[in-house]
Amino acid sequence: MVPRGLRIGYFTSHATGRNGDLASKDRNEMGRFAGEWLSGLLVVTTEFRHIVTTPKTCCQDSSSKDRLTVPELPEVETMRRGILPIVGSRIIGVQRPRCRLKPIAVSPAMATFRRRTIGQRIDDVQRIGKRVIVRLTSDDAIVFEPRMTGLVLLADPPNLQHLRFQLDLADADHDRLLFWDRRGLGNVTLLSPEELAVRIQEKLGPDALTVDGSMLRQRLGASQRAIKVALLDQHAVAGIGNLYASEILFLAKVHPQKRCHSLTRKQWDAIAERIVEVLNEAIRYEGSTLSDGTYRNALNKEGGYQNQHRVYDRENLPCPQCRSPIVRIVQSQRSTFFCAKCQRRPRST
Ligand SMILES: [Zn+2]
Repeated sequence: MVPRGLRIGYFTSHATGRNGDLASKDRNEMGRFAGEWLSGLLVVTTEFRHIVTTPKTCCQDSSSKDRLTVPELPEVETMRRGILPIVGSRIIGVQRPRCRLKPIAVSPAMATFRRRTIGQRIDDVQRIGKRVIVRLTSDDAIVFEPRMTGLVLLADPPNLQHLRFQLDLADADHDRLLFWDRRGLGNVTLLSPEELAVRIQEKLGPDALTVDGSMLRQRLGASQRAIKVALLDQHAVAGIGNLYASEILFLAKVHPQKRCHSLTRKQWDAIAERIVEVLNEAIRYEGSTLSDGTYRNALNKEGGYQNQHRVYDRENLPCPQCRSPIVRIVQSQRSTFFCAKCQRRPRST
């Protein structure tokens, strides 16, 4: 039985939210997410059981959404590295497995997709922001965007029900590459080099693993936004999401509500340094698999960085540095976790 308060508290917090910091695309996604929740409420699926059975956590407000793992740079980079063995293989088939759920977006149409890919060899596997890019010898690129719950896999998927897309391969150790997506918000797109540049590369800021303090300050230093919100802006810097933003600011000792324009050069340097440090550390642990269990590496195994989190999803637990309870606030409809003692509150926010 689902507590009534949970239902109402959960989806209205997303459906009615307004915030200038969110891009309209993100608002649409949240609206769609809320709508899906609405339609799925009467059939409380097992995948949300952990939310239903932990009312204390999920009745508080919108934090439940954060428990759906959104792959960020470390998770997508782990997927990329995991599928590197397909480099050199030849595509011999492209399939959309039978799926009773709403199909994910695949473009162009399958006939064109097949015509342009079958017979091509895989030249390289790259990452742009939070997307995996499979480069073909024709110079076309197959772009996998996991969005909220997508996975790029070589191994058997978590289930067949949400298997969305498959490349059949020859001349390699693995005979297929799979795209699995529980919520189905991800997409697969075949792009020419020009389309890749215009539609993806030019819309994103520098990769988060390459930033330094002056670059960050140049891109965000004039912004009125809170630093935590600004770090999620993929046009400013690509790859950071909600989870790692909290971890980065904790280590940089910067309050998440501090306005960008009020940050000192030293603070920008500290943030940039911690961005690179935290993301690389998370890649070494192969990303974070949260309580929803969605994120898996290319071999369908859990990541390990969730056990290293210092503040994320640790509300009221002791700060690892000063033992003060970790605080959770909501910024732009997303949970932020921080230590009020280690990350001093700004005088004006
Ligand atoms: Zn502390």
